[in-house]
Amino acid sequence: MKHTGSHYLLSRLPEWDMFPAVLRGKIRLKGSTATNPVAVGDVVNFEAEVPEGIAEQELAAYVTPENTAVITSVEPRRNYIIRKSTNLSRQSHIIAANLDRAFLVITLDFPQVKLPFLDRLLVTCEVYNVPPVIVLNKCDLYGPEHQEMLEAFREIYEGAGYPIIEVSAHTGQGVDRLRDIVSGRMLPDGNVNEDYDPAKPHVSLFSGVSGVGKSSLIKALDPSLDPKVGEISDVHLQGKHTTTFYEMYSLTSGGFIVDTPGLRGFGLVDLKKEEIALYFPEMLKAAQNCRFTPCTHTHEPGCAVKEAVEAGEISYDRYSSYLGMLDEEGKYR
Ligand code: GDP
Ligand code: ZN
Repeated sequence: MKHTGSHYLLSRLPEWDMFPAVLRGKIRLKGSTATNPVAVGDVVNFEAEVPEGIAEQELAAYVTPENTAVITSVEPRRNYIIRKSTNLSRQSHIIAANLDRAFLVITLDFPQVKLPFLDRLLVTCEVYNVPPVIVLNKCDLYGPEHQEMLEAFREIYEGAGYPIIEVSAHTGQGVDRLRDIVSGRMLPDGNVNEDYDPAKPHVSLFSGVSGVGKSSLIKALDPSLDPKVGEISDVHLQGKHTTTFYEMYSLTSGGFIVDTPGLRGFGLVDLKKEEIALYFPEMLKAAQNCRFTPCTHTHEPGCAVKEAVEAGEISYDRYSSYLGMLDEEGKYR
């Protein structure tokens, strides 16, 4: 659920019975350059010294900071979101693992959304197989002057296949709907999730640059949560004065979210030039008709992607984000 330096908090989801744990020796995942072997959202195996015969539900009462559990291994991840430790570093940091969705919180008001930045987040979600939902917050502030932008935005991103939901943490508009999606009961398209299983809790990442209202939104989803206060002390991790990374919260209405304060974006790791277009769904579709394979969709004759951009079927902004990523490719490696 959380880790601070070498100290971890575990919980037996869907129970929320947090108890402390440490790592035994060095757990290294094969082929991983990650600096953190265990991330929020990981499913781990552990050992704990508890009196014989106690029920699993009582475990947390016996596992204390003085008698912590010991993490012995990490189960294979279904997916994860990663970022570079620093811009130039080859090392990476796993932000969260085993995610059902990523909610990308932005606003058409202030702070201004930078589409290349959003596109990069969407590409990362595609690469790591985490379905994104675009959350447009502060919609109480959208007036007639925003309408054109709103329509253009919907056309681009819904056209590319991404669900968008408009919400306001202040007025509560759209918050019920968001809550149902976060719990897993509803799908972003408004349909009931037929596969919903309360025993398999939905875990979602919440990402957004500072100021978009991510904390306000989490509070609106569940008033008992206050992400901005959560950063202070935690009884289970007492005395350890180290940076808290990302943290999971349990929502009263169902579902779990991983908040990512201070996360300015998540970087791509090891994406080759010719792979980038595979993660722009609308380009991937058009690319089937390119004359050459592979096609970088830049200079090749008979490029169906370029034709689709010229015909207005693929947004020029998205195409230009793509070109920007091609250009910067070297910086990701
Ligand atoms: P965070 O940095 O993304 O966690 O953003 P905060 O939750 O701290 O909010 C940043 C600012 O935006 C604060 O002044 C909030 O009051 C404001 N804000 C957040 N959500 C909304 C909203 O839905 N409508 C309006 N009008 N303001 C909002
Ligand atoms: Zn092409």
